[in-house]
Amino acid sequence: MAKKTVAQINVMGKKVLMRCDFNVPLDKQQNITNDTRITEALPTIKHVLQNGGSVILMSHLGRPDGKPEAKYSLAPVAKRLSELLGKQVVFANDCIGPDPAAKAKALKPGDVLLLENVRYHPEEEIKDKKAKEDPALRKAKDDFAKQMADLGDAYVDDAFGTAHRDNASMYTVPALMKGKDRVIGFLIEKELKFLGDAVSNPVRPFVAILGGAKVSDKLGVIENLMQKVNMILIGGAMAYTFFKAQGKTIGGSLCEDEFIEKAKELLAKGKQTGCEIVLPIDTVIAQEIKAGAANKIVEGNIPDGWQGLDIGPATRKLFADKLKSAKTIVWNGPMGVFEMPPFDAGTRAVAQAVADATGKGAKSVIGGGDSASAIIGMGLKDKVSHISTGGGASLEFLEGKKFKCLDILDEA
Ligand code: AMP
Repeated sequence: MAKKTVAQINVMGKKVLMRCDFNVPLDKQQNITNDTRITEALPTIKHVLQNGGSVILMSHLGRPDGKPEAKYSLAPVAKRLSELLGKQVVFANDCIGPDPAAKAKALKPGDVLLLENVRYHPEEEIKDKKAKEDPALRKAKDDFAKQMADLGDAYVDDAFGTAHRDNASMYTVPALMKGKDRVIGFLIEKELKFLGDAVSNPVRPFVAILGGAKVSDKLGVIENLMQKVNMILIGGAMAYTFFKAQGKTIGGSLCEDEFIEKAKELLAKGKQTGCEIVLPIDTVIAQEIKAGAANKIVEGNIPDGWQGLDIGPATRKLFADKLKSAKTIVWNGPMGVFEMPPFDAGTRAVAQAVADATGKGAKSVIGGGDSASAIIGMGLKDKVSHISTGGGASLEFLEGKKFKCLDILDEA
């Protein structure tokens, strides 16, 4: 069943408590260097304001470790949001206590209040599993969340980037607001539509591309996607655990030895289920990870003293060919050390191939993080169907995990 959205509730005269992901990058002078996460939240905020409500915004920023620290303040977000909305955003110096309570009480329809970083309090990140086992933690998390829950007449979750966590502001706050509207915003609606449609309702052939450094992070994704996709293209350092599983030598390449058996199992399972797992056929190797490092291309085994840092040209062509006929594509993780040339060529080639396939009618979903940076950096943002705002969340979604903080919200 679909989740109820903010468009389906009456917000007239209501104070709408909204969880956003304003975890924006800041430079040393506290200037926001990329405001995408703020602009992505605007449609939901504007909808509430235009329909006679006011908004109380909550977010985290960085990892302040449960205590106030000026460099993690949301004050720069209040300033930027004021500019984008063309109206003064009121800023509360905390997310709980007398200041936000007084400021929330004074809100009139059309007003916007932003609360200070929810992670200034350790209670925000108490895991629900721990809270269940320890009554003192349960009480601390509930008491903290209740102070925020009491501020709002309705709850809107539009923070996809943290949707896979059970933080107080994401899970306990709506849990305590039972009886009031608890819905998703337009950003989460869009994320669920693109990721959900891709996974549950794909037009075939459906091809997944997985890369990055850690195979352990993505084993669950491979296992889940294997039952849904026609083909998985594997690049990045995670490919070398599979190389080793096939008995190849990998020199000094990254490898997670404890997952070799699992990799063997997945390769065998792929054969049984008819999901083709495609590994690189050539590799760019070097003796050091450094921009411009001397490198060469090898097929198959990687010699001692060398490490694999990118997929080779034949693999780039192979992957591009496989993507040509794809009708649904999900991509998560770079094909090599894409942060530095020449080891960025594989990721760039895959980004271009995904954009080309999209141009020919494929639906493409980019799972946040590094693959999103590669697409955006190459100016291909508008050439793919959807770039997820949540790296970790999109990965867990692809893994088939349930999101507790979404489960608790109202159904349409
Ligand atoms: P992950 O967080 O697991 O998606 O990994 C992303 C990181 O993987 C990026 O910083 C890449 O530089 C790194 N990476 C990708 N391929 C390789 C490789 N062959 N060797 C070392 N690091 C890699």
